[in-house]
Amino acid sequence: MERKVIGVISGKGGVGKTSLTASLANIAKDDAEIEVLVIDCDVDAPNLAIILPAEDTSKIDTKDVYATLKASFLPDKCVNCKQCIEDHFCEFNALKWDDQNSVPIINYLACEGCGACKVLCPEHAFEINPVKSGEIISFQSEIGVPLVYGKTRLGSTTSGKLVSDSKEHAQKLREFEDSNLVIIDGPPGIGCPVIATISGLDYIITITEPTPSGLHDVIRAIEVVNQFNIPFGIIINKHDLESPFKEEFHDYIAKTGYNVLGRIPFDLSIPEAMSFAKAVIEYKPDSKASQAILEIYENIKKVLWN
Ligand code: SF4
Ligand code: SF4
Repeated sequence: MERKVIGVISGKGGVGKTSLTASLANIAKDDAEIEVLVIDCDVDAPNLAIILPAEDTSKIDTKDVYATLKASFLPDKCVNCKQCIEDHFCEFNALKWDDQNSVPIINYLACEGCGACKVLCPEHAFEINPVKSGEIISFQSEIGVPLVYGKTRLGSTTSGKLVSDSKEHAQKLREFEDSNLVIIDGPPGIGCPVIATISGLDYIITITEPTPSGLHDVIRAIEVVNQFNIPFGIIINKHDLESPFKEEFHDYIAKTGYNVLGRIPFDLSIPEAMSFAKAVIEYKPDSKASQAILEIYENIKKVLWN
């Protein structure tokens, strides 16, 4: 079967994206037709490794990524003129004055690495260097599915780049070559990391729930996906949730004409499974939610390979 790379995204966090990805990975590993690889591209909050931990921690591969630029101060060159503060060199307020030592101090979390201080300081007392912006981690998970994920470092401003690097890293692995299904757990929202996640995918799954914010966010997610002309389907989580907004939500989804891959009922087995750091399909395979996800998995296979 030809390899397909799919992404699970949502306009907002907390709608079950990671939990669904973990269950799909669990189902796929028992499917004789499928060799699955999972990538967690939610690089600012990667959680998939909690549900799919490493089989052998001594075999975890970690690669540092240097994609963020930050200023550093060269005290030997500084003549303490205070021009950098008085002339407001830094638009990001990352420079403060140290009265005691009469030198500027850089707030590294606020620094965007724009280079203005380097250009403007008459004594060339700043330089700009790449610093560690995150890590790409890969391992064989306990359930036998290979997992790759990116993790940003505090203060890093290059989440989108780390997503692209994580995807690129995964593509070089033997496990990628051997796979015919790659499932990417995408970041929530519609920003740069989401764009980096969905570019080049074969199929996108948008997960949402019938609440006002769920509708608002699925509309935004659809707008983004449409820019890329990639086929996609919708999964409605907690579809039976009683809410005054329920009808409006379901009417909207029906009007879009988009493929609804499935509906997952409200089921306490899901949060219970999460509290045990398990995918619901592994924790309670007979639960209503697990049965719905099994059906969704089959529907995904149909849209990918039929
Ligand atoms: S860093 Fe440059 S501009 Fe700032 S006080 Fe030192 S010499 Fe002056
Ligand atoms: S590199 Fe830009 S953001 Fe960082 S301290 Fe210098 S001026 Fe401010």
